[in-house]
Amino acid sequence: MDTHAARGRLIAERERLEGVRQAADRLGAGAREAAERELSSADQHPAELATETIERELDWTVVRHAEAELAEIDAALARLDASTYGSCEACGQPISDARLDALPAARYCVEDQAKVARARRNGHR
Ligand SMILES: [Zn+2]
Repeated sequence: MDTHAARGRLIAERERLEGVRQAADRLGAGAREAAERELSSADQHPAELATETIERELDWTVVRHAEAELAEIDAALARLDASTYGSCEACGQPISDARLDALPAARYCVEDQAKVARARRNGHR
């Protein structure tokens, strides 16, 4: 595993996600202003209100998703610093380079990822 290349990919992905989060923050600020205008204007069309409500909910989904991915990338960068990057957190076996190429922030090997996903579905919430 080329940790230098991995770090470069993680940092590039981090910058992309920061951009997404900042763009969503700006959209969110715009939506809040729109909501304040709604309160002060009595004659707005109901369909426009509905559209703006949907846009606000979409913004939050994007922000939460970007923040969750950022947390995974920070965790992966911490593993790089600790020299544990590329090892499965469950079984300790190396994660394949192909998997890390596709998912630079992967914590688990394919088998353990499937187990974790199953455990989550079975009600650890
Ligand atoms: Zn594993």
